[in-house]
Amino acid sequence: MRKIIVAGNWKMNNDLNESVLLINEIKKTLVNRDDVKVIVAPPFTALDRVSQLLSGTNIGLSAQNMCYEDSGAFTGAVSAKMLKSVGCEYVILGHSERRTLFGEKDAMINKKLKKAISEGITPIFCIGETLEERESGKMKSVIEEQIKNGLEGISEADFEGTIVAYEPVWAIGTGKTATPEQAQEVHAFIRNLLKEMYSENLAENTTIQYGGSVKPENAGELIGQKDIDGALVGGACLKADSFSNIVKNA
Ligand code: PEP
Repeated sequence: MRKIIVAGNWKMNNDLNESVLLINEIKKTLVNRDDVKVIVAPPFTALDRVSQLLSGTNIGLSAQNMCYEDSGAFTGAVSAKMLKSVGCEYVILGHSERRTLFGEKDAMINKKLKKAISEGITPIFCIGETLEERESGKMKSVIEEQIKNGLEGISEADFEGTIVAYEPVWAIGTGKTATPEQAQEVHAFIRNLLKEMYSENLAENTTIQYGGSVKPENAGELIGQKDIDGALVGGACLKADSFSNIVKNA
């Protein structure tokens, strides 16, 4: 059975003190559910402290990005080993903000995915089309290209456990959510692609999250769709009660 996974991407929000306050509030308000895995992705500067505060809970810790190299002259970059040393078990890769604002291409995301997998960090692999791509009928080919290029050279055994996050770019931070039907259609398409690329078993067991203006009010209906297995949440995860209510409604 697929696991429902709700992850909160804090993005470039919260300094150390604010991060401590937020994680403590999340711990207070979150109702533990055996059927939902909860993950938080604070900024790099708060990972170590948040990790300590998560000890004894079953909330997972994720980074928001990672370098594909192990060490060396890569100013500003953070390696998988560094992330593991502060207790990160997950890393968000290929987020649309990394793709559009920082120029990350599929080939680089592929290198990062391979590195995370080889280091035992579970990737949250993000994909999604822009509004222009959707409206010009290119949505499925864009998604297919992102998936095939991103996963090039990654075997079924290596892919296993990877989380996929479908995030239509036009729905991220805009308040415009894909309807449950729109999201379900793409999720089914992604699952079918995974089946063609790997196997039915892998496709059926892969968690595919939806992301894009998820809030407590729409989380239940979205995650209630057959192929939607959780959410990657941006804006609504910055308040403990709304994040906890998304988990509750999932
Ligand atoms: C995101 O950035 O992954 C995201 C889904 O953001 P928001 O929930 O704010 O749309």
